[in-house]
Amino acid sequence: MDFLLDRIAVLGTGITGTAVIAKLAEMGFLPVDPEVADVLVVSPGIPPEQYPQCPGIVMSEIEFAYQLMQREPEPPRLIAVTGTNGKSTVTAMIAHILSIPFAGNVGIPLIEWVGRDAPVIVVEVSSYQLEQVIDFRPDVAIITNITPDHLERHKTMARYAEAKTGVFRTQTSDQTLVVLAGDSWIETIIRTARPQIRSLSAKDALTLAVADHSRAVQVEGKGLGLIGAHNHLNAAMAIAAVMPFGMSVPDALARLTDYVPLPHRMEWVTTVNGRSFFDDSKATNPDSTLVAVDAFDQPVHLILGGKDKGLELEAFMRSLFSTVATITVYGEIADRVMSVARAENCPIPISKVVTLDDATRRAFDGSASGDVILLSPACSSFDQFRDFNHRGDHFKAYVRTQIA
Ligand code: ADP
Repeated sequence: MDFLLDRIAVLGTGITGTAVIAKLAEMGFLPVDPEVADVLVVSPGIPPEQYPQCPGIVMSEIEFAYQLMQREPEPPRLIAVTGTNGKSTVTAMIAHILSIPFAGNVGIPLIEWVGRDAPVIVVEVSSYQLEQVIDFRPDVAIITNITPDHLERHKTMARYAEAKTGVFRTQTSDQTLVVLAGDSWIETIIRTARPQIRSLSAKDALTLAVADHSRAVQVEGKGLGLIGAHNHLNAAMAIAAVMPFGMSVPDALARLTDYVPLPHRMEWVTTVNGRSFFDDSKATNPDSTLVAVDAFDQPVHLILGGKDKGLELEAFMRSLFSTVATITVYGEIADRVMSVARAENCPIPISKVVTLDDATRRAFDGSASGDVILLSPACSSFDQFRDFNHRGDHFKAYVRTQIA
């Protein structure tokens, strides 16, 4: 693709836009106005309706970084991870197994790796970033799952799923696409995919090998192990993704032994009077909360709440009735959760409070020794916090200083 680097416009002034402007400056260029640009590089936080008029090509920062990398003598090989849930975890696992840098939606724009001589990079890509890719072609792509989320931007599930096709659309038959088996949206979008497809499920031999390994690691006390069946699947996907890079299954498993989970994903906080607190603040949609709850055999006191994205709650609440001991809900969504609970004849104790602190205290008061208190809110955090990190940090600090 031909374009002049002195005719690039940049949309957005957050982490992504700032990184693009910094990279252009490093290369000796200043951004221009969109009206005179060859390329408009857009940031994921800005919806397409808000793009300014531009005679040039609109592309995401991921695509722009990719284009610049293709101009390097030896462009890096890319592994790209997308999906509704599990992206950051799978990305971090791959980075850990191959000892390679990670970038993208995890908070380090891919463009920061332009010109830095990394032979392989794993990049997490969100649906917003994939909306505006053109030639982007990873050696290995992964779609962890596709379930309802981000519908305020994509409007329909079909359009959300369509955005995810950007991760494999230009892949060829010598490349690999790793997907979740039996996911109906994934099955729909990969019908015409050209890469070699590796479908993995919870029952796959590779996933079961990960589960066995994780148990052995826990028994031997050598590592943390991976909490929850969803993390066994995440690890299996990560392993399937590194095999084209010459890594064997036993070696990949061995490397995962000392993998440390990312903060705010099923992160153990502390144990107080026999109650274990877990921070799963990154669970920002109902499906991610359901897998988190499923990871425990002990009674779970679930803390839900945050900003209401308008997602369907009925089936979600019904699943919780048989999997958790109590529910405490706070924040903007609290009234809607309570009315769904009433309409569905909620058979377990459920209470509504105003703040996350109140919710933590209430969940603790209702628990017994041996129980789990889990913050897995199923909502985004923006009603009371800056982001999921702020929410998780706040929770951990409250537990450690006010409960412990
Ligand atoms: P993402 O980057 O896609 O938001 P993360 O790896 O940060 O995903 O995990 C976010 C939350 O999603 C976790 O806290 C967990 O509750 C849930 N989760 C993780 N992996 C999976 C998975 N494979 N399937 C469903 N939910 C998952």
